Amino acid sequence: MMQTVYTFGGGVSHDDSRTRDKTITGGKGANLAEMAAIGLPVPPGFTITTEECLRYLRQGHDFSQQLRADVAEALRHIEQAVGKQFGDPADPLLVSVRSGARVSMPGMMDTVLNLGLNDETVQGLAATSGDDRFAWDSYRRFIQMYSDVVLGLDHGQFEEALEVAKEDQGFYADTELSASDWQALVSQYKDIVAKELGKPFPQDVQDQLWGAIAAVFSSWDSERAKVYRRLNDIPADWGTAVNVQAMVFGNMGDTSATGVAFTRDPATGEKAYYGEYLVNAQGEDVVAGIRTPQYLTRAAREKAGASAPSMEEAMPDAFGELARTFELLEQHYTDMQDIEFTVERGTLWMLQTRSGKRTAKAALKLAVDMVGEGLIDEKTAIRRVDPMALDQLLHPTLDPKAKRDVLAKGLPASPGAASGAIVLDADTAEQRASKGEAVILVRVETSPEDIHGMHAAKGILTARGGMTSHAAVVARGMGRPCVSGASSVSIDLKTRRLRIGSRELAEGDVITLDGSTGEVMAGEVPTLEPELVGDFGTLMEWADKHRRMKVRTNAETPQDCRVARQFGAEGIGLARTEHMFFDASRISAVREMILSENEAGRRQALEKLLPEQRADFTEIFEVMAGLPCTIRLLDPPLHEFLPHEDQEFADLAAIVGQDAEQLKRRAAELHEFNPMLGHRGCRLGITYPEIYEMQARAIFEAACDVAQSSGEAPVPEVMIPLVATRKEVAILKTLIDRTAATVFEEKGTTLRYLVGTMIELPRAALAAGEIAEEAEFFSFGTNDLTQTTLGVSRDDAGRFLSAYVEQGIYPRDPFVSLDIEGVGELVKLAASRGRETRSAIKLGICGEHGGDPASIAFCETVGLDYVSASPYRVPIARLAAAQAALQE
Ligand code: PEP
Ligand code: MG
Repeated sequence: MMQTVYTFGGGVSHDDSRTRDKTITGGKGANLAEMAAIGLPVPPGFTITTEECLRYLRQGHDFSQQLRADVAEALRHIEQAVGKQFGDPADPLLVSVRSGARVSMPGMMDTVLNLGLNDETVQGLAATSGDDRFAWDSYRRFIQMYSDVVLGLDHGQFEEALEVAKEDQGFYADTELSASDWQALVSQYKDIVAKELGKPFPQDVQDQLWGAIAAVFSSWDSERAKVYRRLNDIPADWGTAVNVQAMVFGNMGDTSATGVAFTRDPATGEKAYYGEYLVNAQGEDVVAGIRTPQYLTRAAREKAGASAPSMEEAMPDAFGELARTFELLEQHYTDMQDIEFTVERGTLWMLQTRSGKRTAKAALKLAVDMVGEGLIDEKTAIRRVDPMALDQLLHPTLDPKAKRDVLAKGLPASPGAASGAIVLDADTAEQRASKGEAVILVRVETSPEDIHGMHAAKGILTARGGMTSHAAVVARGMGRPCVSGASSVSIDLKTRRLRIGSRELAEGDVITLDGSTGEVMAGEVPTLEPELVGDFGTLMEWADKHRRMKVRTNAETPQDCRVARQFGAEGIGLARTEHMFFDASRISAVREMILSENEAGRRQALEKLLPEQRADFTEIFEVMAGLPCTIRLLDPPLHEFLPHEDQEFADLAAIVGQDAEQLKRRAAELHEFNPMLGHRGCRLGITYPEIYEMQARAIFEAACDVAQSSGEAPVPEVMIPLVATRKEVAILKTLIDRTAATVFEEKGTTLRYLVGTMIELPRAALAAGEIAEEAEFFSFGTNDLTQTTLGVSRDDAGRFLSAYVEQGIYPRDPFVSLDIEGVGELVKLAASRGRETRSAIKLGICGEHGGDPASIAFCETVGLDYVSASPYRVPIARLAAAQAALQE
């Protein structure tokens, strides 16, 4: 039998590696054990393993005999270390119970403090602490928390009772209430519980403890936890650990305090202690935003222009101890830490440490700074930055020159800029965002129930809460801009209107947030393109040094090509020529070509398109300055270009001098039942070779012109889409080579070029050996390859795929992250068969997966030469490719 419980602290050292294994004892438990082991002051406690959680959930919510015995023994460990007994009426041991999965997870039961208090032990606590007020305040906190998180009662009723009690006495702050006030409230709280539950608040401390353990276990399967898991790709079979720890009290008067801190600034990455604390308070007071927390350091206080003393000033000894602990933790974990601490009558206790959530900007600065400080090496720095987080930095920021109509100022809780329509609750945010609307979620404060709305929103604004409030922490983790604690915001949910400062607004009105300054502005404010400089540039240089695969881009407009090059693209992996056909100035020529009854008619229309296409390619080749450019010949079903409205037919009829009715008839003939498997891709080139001939001519003429004018010869890679057989490639390659030869002769020059194919049909993957006899390169079109391998339409998958992902049928959306077991097998097979025929065949990927880090890691294992991603994904792909190379 595996051990079910591990103890920590209290002067015992443990050498069982499972104690510090996050998969067994969870993030919180493992780090508590580790902090205790390196000699930091950690209140003694124990951790119940994640394995026990899963056993409990799978076995009918029953505790095993072994668990009961192990917990009893572990409790004795705490009792001995502290010198108090659990449930002792004279001098009770009190504990906290907290959940702790492998990764921190809002959405699960969080914390119960002061467990072990009842009508008898509260007297003992009063006597031993010499502080009646403290004892009764602790008891009422316990009843409230336990009722909320374990018994499932609405905390509103308790808060209301407290508000009434304060109002009756004309008090403003909780701290004004006396021992007897709290005692009276305890009695009211117990009545609330009895009324709601039909039975009294549990007085047996063992019942309290097991109730809390059951609640933590069960919270793993709560709806909120499931939503969070889905959004963050966390497997359901991890389970959560339970941490039970001796209480230390931050609410024992003015020499006691509680706080949360980061060893560096999690928003900017700056090397400055960062955090908040509250004198005479317990942990939840800081996060809940009921009292306004004070700054940790004097510098931070002065910078904010605040008057309440910082911890550095008010408690210099405890602060000194805290600062030493910060240094030790960073040296030990070689990373920025997010910690919780309590000062009990002058003594510092560490309650938690974990690697701190950070903005992308901070992640880069931390990684680069820590290499400079010798804490980590370049490879670790590369591994440490989540490629997807870079997305935050790759999007526009507010133009500093733009006019700002500032409505209010709050805390700069999560950087970045966002504009959108105000929405006042999470469900509305989700609904409106699903229709493509940009929304800003505005709440008094957020809680784990709001996660789906925060995810759907472009930005988050709260009226209450500090820099470590729920909204701030979650927004930073998600990379959403957030302004918190904007106290001049007041919301009326009944009328769905709000006031910001002196202005009245309604749900749906557009505002802009600047999460870097805390400003809230009316309307939409213009933005600027980002640049890869500073730490970003440095990390990218390191990534380039360590990656093997090249990174290209999917782009066809000169503007996109420019952006991609700025982001470091080393060529074009896919230029979809059809996008150029939609241009307003050419669409009628395209339509004329499609609706022609015969080749002669088509050629006539193609003549008009040739100079336009040539101009497109000329611009692309100029921007790409000698880098390889893969240009794909026309791919989509022709009817996509056709007119729909009567007026459009009439206009076209006038242009081409034909009868509108005749054009309509011809358009109807082109109708297909299943166009994605119909007359598209190379089938167009096989049936209407003149189309591909025109495109090939445009490519080669442009390439020759640019080679001549710039002296930098482009390397066109002409790509044939949707092939299934060698013969298709053979026929079209002959056409392309012949066109090239003609153009070269006309221009009196030659150029290096390649002809290759997309591999985007299962048959092509299987026949890759033969196809490689003709094709000089393969580019995996994993969008179509996914669609055709899974038999799932890429345009209709939305209706059912989310259910598939929810039920774990596919681990992630296979159109976002490559289905490695299925589609990946075909890619592997095609790569190896292609290489057998042509050892130097160039291999790349140009489906959406080329910008997805997990898929990029797979491409590295197959040994592809490059991945191709949309311009804004290029830096993500560069970093992901480096991480993949370092994985090998
Ligand atoms: C593909 O199928 O993966 C691809 C890149 O082509 P498209 O998305 O244009 O079909
Ligand atoms: Mg395709």
